[in-house]
Amino acid sequence: MQPVDARDPETLELGGRSIARGEQKTVRLEFARLPTGTVIDTRVHVFRGPEPGPVLLLQGGLHGDEVGGIEILRRMLRRGLFSVRRGTILVVPILNVFGFIHFSRDVPDGKDINRSFPGTKKGSLASRVAWHYMKQVFVHAHMGIDFHTGGARRDNYPQIRFTTDDPRSFALAEAFAAPFVLPSKPIPKSFRKAALTRGVPIVVYEAGESLRLDEFAVEQGVLGTLRVLEHLQMIEHDDARRATSSVQLNKSRWLRAPRSGLFTACAPNGSYVHAGEPIGVVSTVHGDKSREVRAPKDGFVICVNNFPVVNQGDALVHLGEADPPPTR
Ligand SMILES: [Zn+2]
Repeated sequence: MQPVDARDPETLELGGRSIARGEQKTVRLEFARLPTGTVIDTRVHVFRGPEPGPVLLLQGGLHGDEVGGIEILRRMLRRGLFSVRRGTILVVPILNVFGFIHFSRDVPDGKDINRSFPGTKKGSLASRVAWHYMKQVFVHAHMGIDFHTGGARRDNYPQIRFTTDDPRSFALAEAFAAPFVLPSKPIPKSFRKAALTRGVPIVVYEAGESLRLDEFAVEQGVLGTLRVLEHLQMIEHDDARRATSSVQLNKSRWLRAPRSGLFTACAPNGSYVHAGEPIGVVSTVHGDKSREVRAPKDGFVICVNNFPVVNQGDALVHLGEADPPPTR
């Protein structure tokens, strides 16, 4: 890892702009064009404190349909919450502009930018966007928060994920203090994996569902981000933002459809269930058969599939386990 001042120099050069300490600027990076010739620009809002310090990257919309993260950053920009005392905050509300305008997780050729890192200059569109982003934006960051929601109508109860066995990302996740904190192994070619191999810890905030705004998920995201900024001593501390409760989970598992049919969940998202308790039911569309889905272990419901039509083996409910079990 480079020393702090290499990434937080007196004057930060980004996208052909120079940003001095104490300054704020919005930089437009032109990564690509639409077939119409319209320039696709990715905007980076840069907030620099008067004192040197860490460089924190906050990015949303890596999956273009996961609008919850975009709304968290939009709200924070609008409320003027980035009054930085030290260090630099880089805010990228929408990384995958292509996906956003097509209401899609991916770029138009169906490739996922978050499976294309670190990317190549002459590769597919997703790979090129990843490459430019790494070279122009990521290169400045010491650490970051990547904002996501569940995909395919799966609703994540607000949770922050750190990289298994990475104490620096765990420290960020602890500071964020979402309702649930859990370890997660990095996925090959994901942004988090590319960052990890370059010594940069990234935590992933997963909350709500794609193409939908969930007020609780958005506000928990705003509060958690402010707690991280306070933890890093980048903004003024405010006791009111202290988390009321945060449950640490050790592992998680998907409960899958035992048969094809219509799924109805009965355990509320975020609730604690005991081993053997019903979580939902999958019924045939003709009303002749149904199968209950029960919790195999004690745990918390941290994601519920809101799409009722399921095939055998589809993910229904994500169950998080705490060890030792919390006292409730
Ligand atoms: Zn995502």
